[in-house]
Amino acid sequence: MSLKGKTAIITGSNSGIGLGVARELAKAGADVVLNSFTDSDEDHKLAADLGAEFGVTARYIKADMSKATECRALVEQAGACDILVNNAGIQHVSAIEDFPIEKWDAIIAINLSSAFHTTAAALPMMRKAGWGRVVNIASAHGLTASPYKSAYVAAKHGIVGFTKVTALETAEDPITANAICPGYVHTPLVEAQIPDTMKKYDMDRETVIREVILDRQPSKQFATVEQLGGTAVFLCSSAAEQITGTTISVDGGWTAL
Ligand code: NAD
Repeated sequence: MSLKGKTAIITGSNSGIGLGVARELAKAGADVVLNSFTDSDEDHKLAADLGAEFGVTARYIKADMSKATECRALVEQAGACDILVNNAGIQHVSAIEDFPIEKWDAIIAINLSSAFHTTAAALPMMRKAGWGRVVNIASAHGLTASPYKSAYVAAKHGIVGFTKVTALETAEDPITANAICPGYVHTPLVEAQIPDTMKKYDMDRETVIREVILDRQPSKQFATVEQLGGTAVFLCSSAAEQITGTTISVDGGWTAL
C-alpha cells in the first residue's frame, strides 16, 4: 500500500516506538514529521537520514508535549496532517501515596492531554483534506491495570476513551481514530526499568526479562517497533476504512489472560 502524498506527524518519535512507526510510515511512502522536546543535531539528522533512506520528505519539529500550546503549534507548523500518531509518553512507578504530584501531572499531560491538543488542531486539516487517520499509542495498560502505575494506567485508559470519542465525532467523515495497545516492547522506556528490577529481585538480566517484565506476556517475547509500525500502516490502509473507535492489542496474548 502507498501512503505517497500523505503527511504523518508522530509525537515523541526520536526513539523507540515513535521512531519505529515513523520508519514504517515512511517506508510506505508517507512524508513524516518527527518530534521530541530536545531539538538536538541528532534529532535533525535522524529526520534527514530517514528522508534519504525512503525517498520521502522528513522533518523534525521540536515541541514539548507537556505544553498545550506547543502540542497545537506542532500541528500548525507541520502545515498538513493526514496521519496523526499520538505516541509521546513517559512512565513513573510508585505507590499512590508516595506518587510525586509533579510526576502525576507530567504523565497526564504528556500521555493523555497532548493527544487532545494535537487532535483538536489536526481534525480541521483532515476534514479539509477529505481523509485522515488518528492512531493513538495506548498500551495493554489502557485495558488492564498494574499496581504502582496509577498515572500511567489512568492516562492510558483515558486515551482509549478519548479515541472512542474522536471516532464518534468523525464517524461520518473519511477519518478514523483507533488505539494500538502494545504489551511490552523493547525500547529505552522498558530498558530503563531493567537494572532496578535486577537489583530489587536479585536476578540476572535474562531472568528479569522472562519472569518479571514478560510475566504477563504469554508469548514470552517482546513486541517489536516494526510490528507496531506495521499495525499503524494497516490502520492507514483501505482495508481499515471501517475500523474506527477501537483498540488493537499487540501484546503477545497479555489481555487474553
Ligand atoms: P521511549 O522512551 O523510547 O520514547 C518516548 C518518546 O517520547 C521519545 O521520543 C521522547 O523524546 C518522547 N517524549 C517524552 N516526553 C516528551 C515531551 N514532553 N514532549 C515530546 N516528546 C516527548 O518510549 P517508548 O517505549 O517508545 O514509548 C512510546 C509510547 O509507547 C509511549 O506512549 C508508551 O507509553 C507506549 N508504550 C510503550 C510500551 C513499551 O513496552 N515500550 C508498551 C506500551 C505502550
